[in-house]
Amino acid sequence: MTVFPGFTLPDELRAIREQVRRFIQEEIIPLEQRLDPDAPEIPREDFVRLSGKTKEAGLWALGIPEEYGGGGLDTFSMCVILEEMSQHRMGLYVPGCGVFGRNPPPAIWAGSKEQIQKYAVPAVREGHETFWAITEPSGGADPAGAIQTRAEKRGDRWVLNGRKVFISRAHDAPWGVVFARTDKSKGRGGISCFIVEQGTPGFTAKPFKVIRTSAVPTDVVFEDCSIPAENLVGQEGQGLELAFDLLVKQRFPYSACNLGVAVAAHRMAIAYAKERSTFGAKLAERQAIQWMLADAEVEIRAARWLIWEGAWKADRGEDARVEASIAKLYSSEVLGRVIDAAVQIHGGYGVSKEFPLERWYREARVRRIGEGPSEVHRMVIARSLFRR
Ligand SMILES: Cc1cc2nc3c(=O)[nH]c(=O)nc-3n(C[C@H](O)[C@H](O)[C@H](O)COP(=O)(O)OP(=O)(O)OC[C@H]3O[C@@H](n4cnc5c(N)ncnc54)[C@H](O)[C@@H]3O)c2cc1C
Repeated sequence: MTVFPGFTLPDELRAIREQVRRFIQEEIIPLEQRLDPDAPEIPREDFVRLSGKTKEAGLWALGIPEEYGGGGLDTFSMCVILEEMSQHRMGLYVPGCGVFGRNPPPAIWAGSKEQIQKYAVPAVREGHETFWAITEPSGGADPAGAIQTRAEKRGDRWVLNGRKVFISRAHDAPWGVVFARTDKSKGRGGISCFIVEQGTPGFTAKPFKVIRTSAVPTDVVFEDCSIPAENLVGQEGQGLELAFDLLVKQRFPYSACNLGVAVAAHRMAIAYAKERSTFGAKLAERQAIQWMLADAEVEIRAARWLIWEGAWKADRGEDARVEASIAKLYSSEVLGRVIDAAVQIHGGYGVSKEFPLERWYREARVRRIGEGPSEVHRMVIARSLFRR
C-alpha cells in the first residue's frame, strides 16, 4: 500500500528542497535586490551563469521526465520544491527566475515522438519560454463555448484564422500551443490543438500592460496563418481534452507557487511584528496582529495539505480534477488574504517598493482570475457534490 507521504517526506526530496531553499536565499534574492523592483526577468548573463550552477547541482528541469533531459520528479515532489522556488520577488510568475528550467505546455507530451524531439526537448534543454493560447475575446472562463478561432485543412497544411487575448509571452516565445475549432458542427469535440512557431506568416502577438510585469500577456491575431499538417497535436477533435488535461496538470504546481509566496509574506509579517513597536509595545504583543498571523498560519497549513493531497492523487493516476479546482481556488484566495495581512502589518512599508510585498499584492490579484476564475472552480466543486 502506498502511504500518503505528507508526514514523512523522503530524505532525497528533503535534500533537494534544502538545496533549492539555499539557492534562492544565496543567489536569487541578492540578485533581485540589485534590479528594478518591477523587473520582469533577470539579465541574460545572470540567467546563463545561474542556470549553469543549477545544471551542475542537478537541479535543472526537475519535473521533466528523465528520458527528455529532466530530473523525473512527480507532481507531488514538484509541489514541495516549488513552494521553495517561488519565495522571492519574481517568484509568483517566474519561480527561481527561470534558472531551474521551465516546463513546456503539458499538451506537447501528447504529441508525436517527432514533435517532442523537435519542440519539447530543446525547450527543456534551453529553458526557454513557450505559450499556450486558449482564451479569446469572447471569453476564457468557458473555452468550450468561447473558442471561435478556426483551423481549416487545405492540402497538407492547416490554415488558422481568429484572435486570442491575454496570451502570456506569445510575442517572444519560440513556439506555443494553440487551440482552434476544426469542426463547427461537433461542439466540444470540434476543437484541436496545434503547434505554432514564432515568425510564422499570419501570426502576430502584441504585448499589452496589465497589473503584473512578468509573463506579459499579448493580443494574438491569426490571419491566414498556414502551418504544416504535422503540427496538429494528438488527434483532430482532441483539443479540449488536451486543454483541460493541461489545465488540471498545471494547477497543483501553480497552487504550490501561491503557497510559497504566501509563506514568504507570512514570514516577513512575523519578523516585522517582532521588531516594530507602537504605543510602547511590539506589534507582536497586540491581539489584533496575533489573530491576523494566527489565521494566516492556519490557512497556509490547510492550503499545503490540499495541494499535497491532490497532487498525490494525480500522481497515482486518480481523477484529481476536483482536487485541482479545490487547490487552485483555496491557494489563490489564501495568497490574497495572507499578503493583505502582511501589507497591513508593515504599514506604509507594506506598500513601498523596498519590500516585495507590494509587487506580490498586485500580482496575487491575477491568481483569482487566470487559470479559471474562482467562481468557475466553485462551480466545478459544486457540480461534483451533486453528482455524488
Ligand atoms: C495576466 C493574464 C495572463 C493570462 N495568460 C493566459 C495565457 O497564457 N493563455 C490563455 O489561454 N489565457 C490566459 N489568460 C486568460 C485567463 O485564463 C482568463 O482571463 C480567464 O480564464 C477568465 O476569462 P475572461 O477574462 O474572458 O473572463 P470571462 O470568461 O468573461 O469571465 C468574467 C468573470 O465572470 C465570472 N464568471 C465566469 N463564469 C462564471 C460562472 N460559471 N459562474 C459565476 N461567475 C462566472 C468570473 O468572475 C469571471 O472572472 C490570462 C489572463 C490574465 C489576466
